[in-house]
Amino acid sequence: MIFIGGLGRSGTTLLERLLGEIPGVIALGEVVHLWARGVIDDEPCGCGEPFSECSFWHKVGARAFGGWRARQAESQLDLRARVDRTRRLPLFLLGMISREAHLATYVSTYARVYTAATEIADGRTVVDSSKHASLAYCLASILDLHVVHVIRDPRAVAASWRQMVRRPEDGHYMARWSPWRTALHWMVQNLAFELLSMRGVRVTRVRYEDLVADPETTLRDLAAALRLPSSPEALSFVEEGHAQLGVAHTVSGNPMRFALGRVAITDHPADLAAAQRRLVTALTLPLLLRYGYRIACQRSSPCTRP
Ligand SMILES: [Zn+2]
Repeated sequence: MIFIGGLGRSGTTLLERLLGEIPGVIALGEVVHLWARGVIDDEPCGCGEPFSECSFWHKVGARAFGGWRARQAESQLDLRARVDRTRRLPLFLLGMISREAHLATYVSTYARVYTAATEIADGRTVVDSSKHASLAYCLASILDLHVVHVIRDPRAVAASWRQMVRRPEDGHYMARWSPWRTALHWMVQNLAFELLSMRGVRVTRVRYEDLVADPETTLRDLAAALRLPSSPEALSFVEEGHAQLGVAHTVSGNPMRFALGRVAITDHPADLAAAQRRLVTALTLPLLLRYGYRIACQRSSPCTRP
C-alpha cells in the first residue's frame, strides 16, 4: 500500500494519477474523504459517476462491508475526530500512542477498503493520496505502507492556496489560506513526514519541480523505489512531458483527478507579492534549504538546486 503525503497543492493528485497508470497499481484518491464526500454526500467519483452509482466503489463497499451505510461512515468520521488529528502527532512521536482500540478500529476500516479495492481491481498495489501526516501516522502504527512524501516550493504552494478555484464536484470555491498560514502548515506537514521516516517507516521524497521538469526519469526512479514495474513499457504512458491518463476511480482530490486522455505535465505558477514571498521564505527557511530551494527566486528563474 502506498500513501501519498504532503501539503495540499503540492502535486499529490498529479503524482497519484501517474502512479495509477502503472500496471497493477490502483489509485483510490483521498480515501480520508471517502466517508463524508463519497458515502454521505455522494460526490462524483473520478470516473464521473456519483459515488453511489460507480460500479467499482459499489463492489468495494459490498466486499468490504456488505455495502456502504451512512451510519458506518458517520462512525468512521467520529473515530477520525478522536484519533486522526495533527495535534496528536507529538503523542505518536513520544511513543504515547500504541495500539489503542479506537485507532485499531479506525485503521482496520481503511485496511478493509484497501484489500477490497485490490481484489476488485485485480491489482497488486493501492495508492491512497490522503496527504495528511496524521493519517499516515495512524496507518503506519498498524499497517505496512510505503509513504511518498511530495514537496513543492512553499512560495508556489502559498500562491496556489491564494487562488480562487471552484470545486467541480459542487461548484463551491476551494478553501483559501493566507501565505503565513500556508507556510505554517507546510512546515508542520513536511516536518511530520521527515520524523515519520526516522521512526522506521519507508518514506520516499519526491520534489514536484523535478517531476514537472523530467517526468520520465522522476517517475522511473520513484517506481523503482516503490518496487513497482519501472520498465519503459510499464511507463510508456509518459512521453515528452505528457501523460496518457485513463479513467481512475478516485474518491476525492484536486480537480485534475477528472482529467482524461493526453495531459500536459506542467507547472501552473501563480504570483505572490514580494512581501508575502519574503514572509513565506523566512517562515519555512530550514526545510526550504534542506529540500534544495533557493532563497531568492522569481517566477522566471528556477527555484531549485540539483
Ligand atoms: Zn468510479
